[in-house]
Amino acid sequence: MTKKIFRSILLAAVSVLLASLVIIMGCLYDYYRNVQEKQLRDELRLASYGVEAGGSDYLEQLASPYRFQSTADFRLTWVAADGEVLFDTHVPAAEMENHADRLEVKEALAEGESGGIRYSETLTERTLYYAQRLTDGTVLRISISQLTVFALAMGMLQPILLTAVSAVILSALLAHRMAKHIVAPLNDLNLDRPLENDAYEELSPLLGRIHQQHRQIEAQLRELRRKTEEFEQITENMGEGLVLLDGKGVILSINPAARMIFHADSACIGQEFLVIDRDHEINLAIQTAREGGHSEIRAVRDNREYQFDISQITADGAAAGTVLLAFDVTEQAAAERSRREFSANVSHELKTPLQSIMGSAELLENGLVKQEDIPQFVGVIRTEAARLVTLVEDIIHLSQLDEGIAPAKERVNLLELADSAASALRERAEERHIDLSVTGENLMVDGVRSFLYEMLYNLIDNAIKYNTDGGRVEVAVSAGDTGTTVSVKDTGIGIPPEYQARVFERFFRVDKSRSKASGGTGLGLSIVKHIAQYHHADLSLHSTIGKGTDISVSFSLEK
Ligand code: ADP
Repeated sequence: MTKKIFRSILLAAVSVLLASLVIIMGCLYDYYRNVQEKQLRDELRLASYGVEAGGSDYLEQLASPYRFQSTADFRLTWVAADGEVLFDTHVPAAEMENHADRLEVKEALAEGESGGIRYSETLTERTLYYAQRLTDGTVLRISISQLTVFALAMGMLQPILLTAVSAVILSALLAHRMAKHIVAPLNDLNLDRPLENDAYEELSPLLGRIHQQHRQIEAQLRELRRKTEEFEQITENMGEGLVLLDGKGVILSINPAARMIFHADSACIGQEFLVIDRDHEINLAIQTAREGGHSEIRAVRDNREYQFDISQITADGAAAGTVLLAFDVTEQAAAERSRREFSANVSHELKTPLQSIMGSAELLENGLVKQEDIPQFVGVIRTEAARLVTLVEDIIHLSQLDEGIAPAKERVNLLELADSAASALRERAEERHIDLSVTGENLMVDGVRSFLYEMLYNLIDNAIKYNTDGGRVEVAVSAGDTGTTVSVKDTGIGIPPEYQARVFERFFRVDKSRSKASGGTGLGLSIVKHIAQYHHADLSLHSTIGKGTDISVSFSLEK
């Protein structure tokens, strides 16, 4: 801006200077020409009187100081009526041609006087002349050579140039100072507080506008900050991972859950997604979403399975970016897997007894069984059918527990319940000479009576099934600092350490044939686990091979 102002001022100054020079020279030239014309006329009049009185003597006398000198001021030429040059102050008359056809001579002869201007061939000189007819019919002509304006200017070139250069330098200096002076208040403007400036009055509307825009921008910033905080609060508390990418795949925002999944920190903002995850498949899914609008992919990170839903964001019809949502589906995936395994296991478990029943029934139907073996075959059919009934019952219980279908909770006396479950199994225990005892206090828990009964029944049943003949089963109900515990302890075969965590899985058995022989379904402990979970009770198992197993269920007070 300073340069522009400087150039403008300089241009204006130089233009004014040149215009002034031209005008001044024009005026001066005009003035001197008028003075010269008047002088020339006066000289001619005087010379006419002189010639009329003294003839050529007068001219000789007048011309003697500058006779035949081309530098003389005036040139006087006396021409006879026939055009013959009688006298000339600059050139000997004899050398001069006849002037009869000269316009000024002709006009003077005809009209008494004449005058005009004649230019030289180079236009650098012009001749001003006047002619007058004398009383004797001769013509006296006076002329003077002048320089033209152009020639005059050329002659004065040096002073003009000197003046112009000085003026330009002076103008430049002044223009520089003025430009700086004009711009200084503009540079000092405090645009943060536009209304507090005291610069040029002309700037007031502009400063007012800036002030207004400041306020608008501040309001918009406040709104933007509020929305950003709102967005951050929502995304920070989200359990799902959220990553926002711009159109080029650069991270715009990443919430804490996503940072944890990708082991990234906030420094990744502004970098490409590849920086936080180089997995080809997920990057391919992002690419697919960018091209097709949406994509989904499952991937494992830190032993947890995530579902990544990737969608393209569009604004005004154009792709503005991509949003990546990560859902932790570990439990869901495990449940899906176990459901699949469960279905396969159920089919298998149902098929085996049914095949036994079918086989025995076919043999009986075709009369292939000896009369004395018939009770044995019928016994197989009954046992297998009973197993099917137990299996179906267990499956129903499990699915009810899975779906959370349960009767209302009530205050249940755990000792009483343990007593009644033990009573139901006492006969089976006595068959194997197992000592079954129930001890403890009358402690109450909040629970579903039928579920708790089933849980205790399954535990005591297992303690008898996997016991040695003549062994012991102790059921104890006790109160601790944290709550009520019921434990079922046996002196049986024990569970190998590597299987202790797996016995609660559906259809898992350590010894399949022993389980089947004793009517087990492989679902008893998983039902126990579900019932404990339903009551928010902790389940613990301690077992030593050959010594026995102790399974406790603790109902905590807070829960
Ligand atoms: P099952 O119907 O086969 O008894 P469970 O789910 O009740 O199925 O038990 C799973 C497996 O855990 C059993 O097959 C058995 O191998 C083992 N088990 C359960 N309870 C005991 C116990 N008290 N002592 C030894 N092993 C046991």
